[in-house]
Amino acid sequence: VQGVQGQKVAVLGLGRSGLATARALVAGGAEPLLWDDSPEARAKAEAEGFTCHDLTRNAAFEGVAALVVSPGIPHLYPAPNPVIARAMDLGVPVDNDIGLFFRSLSTPEWDNFDTVPRVICVTGSNGKSTTTALIHHILAEAGRPTQMAGNIGRGVLDIDPPGEGEVIVLELSSYQTDLARALTPDVAVFTNLSPDHLDRHAGMGGYFAAKRRLFAEGGPDRAVIGVDEVEGRYLANQLAQGAGDDRVIRISSGQKLDAFGWSVFARKGFLAEWRHGRQIASIDLREVKGLPGAHNHQNACAAYAAVRSLGLAPRQIEAALHSFGGLPHRSQLVGERGGVRFVNDSKATNVDSAAKALQAFPRIRWIAGGMGKDGGIAALQPFLGSVVKAYLIGHSARDFALQIGQTPHEICETMDRAVARAAEEAQAGEVVLLAPAAASFDQYPNFEKRGEDFTARVRALIG
Ligand code: ADP
Repeated sequence: VQGVQGQKVAVLGLGRSGLATARALVAGGAEPLLWDDSPEARAKAEAEGFTCHDLTRNAAFEGVAALVVSPGIPHLYPAPNPVIARAMDLGVPVDNDIGLFFRSLSTPEWDNFDTVPRVICVTGSNGKSTTTALIHHILAEAGRPTQMAGNIGRGVLDIDPPGEGEVIVLELSSYQTDLARALTPDVAVFTNLSPDHLDRHAGMGGYFAAKRRLFAEGGPDRAVIGVDEVEGRYLANQLAQGAGDDRVIRISSGQKLDAFGWSVFARKGFLAEWRHGRQIASIDLREVKGLPGAHNHQNACAAYAAVRSLGLAPRQIEAALHSFGGLPHRSQLVGERGGVRFVNDSKATNVDSAAKALQAFPRIRWIAGGMGKDGGIAALQPFLGSVVKAYLIGHSARDFALQIGQTPHEICETMDRAVARAAEEAQAGEVVLLAPAAASFDQYPNFEKRGEDFTARVRALIG
């Protein structure tokens, strides 16, 4: 981190991003004051050679220049953490690792890098990880130096010093965009908006406001905005100086947007790019195996638009779409046998994302169940037309069986049995799909382990 030389900077939350922040502060010549309520987290920091300072003490903030907060800690709603509240009362600026990252980019000290890197930020309710990974993949395939970080696994302060022409792709959650004191991406992407994490943002308005900060005045040179919800349309409308302005690239899955200055949309399996009333490119997405379903076509449009705005050619992008393997556990094609495809969407832990998965294929052997969520799966009824049969697992198996009523189903209890039964009964042209519409905690530590179990059993079966 640059621009913090000689400063005392408090760090609250010592998970992965907190520790990366502490290391970066030391490297930048600052003195980090670290704290976490959990003794285990403090022990881990101390094992790395840091000393902890109790930030809950009255005098803790004397001479402190800023407080850097981890994304997992509520900073405002439902109630601010007491340490954050004290910092605010004392007028100490509250920031996060993303803010530190952007401040570093804009300081002259960063000039040991040949050029300042370009930064693309991706936010939205769904599809962030897929879009981020896809942008990174396309750039890498095109031979552009690139790194990805943020919500997607690597802390922003863990990235390697960027080289010439490098593009940094960051996935940012609403918590991260809300707290950062500096947010100046070159390209900002807003995928879509649906209710999520509303408790921490005091409702939908707060949630949308947090995401919108990425597009504030003095923000991105280019904005890629999903306009399938009214919030996206509003944001695009606000940013564009009239319909012909191409600072905004509108994207959609389903709507024809040829009347706008610049747009990229997917319809009937094709992606189309339009600019000033002319079609520039068309790509057949039905042949893109790693991105099945209308939701992934939206992600493809978002990634396409982001890299187009950096000057990549449509044919280059098309080739890279074909070589994208998909992210693990998100509509991931695990294998194929006798015309039956096996798809792992273990990340579909709620009704919304399971609905998307169920719309992605025409004939589905559906493996579902786990730790059911409030409200059950009654809302999935309109999407069950594609389900040939359900194979139900986990704690919610019997509940789900009652809720899906007429749809053929079988209680399998375990993944092992569900995969075996579905594979046995599936016909050519069908998809065996894990899209649980439930959390994994009854049988697995997390959704990743559940997806790995599915994958291992499929591989054992089909070789
Ligand atoms: P995020 O990082 O925003 O959580 P992911 O790319 O990890 O998004 O996808 C999470 C789940 O959401 C996937 O398993 C898929 O079922 C669903 N999904 C992916 N992209 C979209 C989209 N554009 N719109 C709606 N749902 C999506």
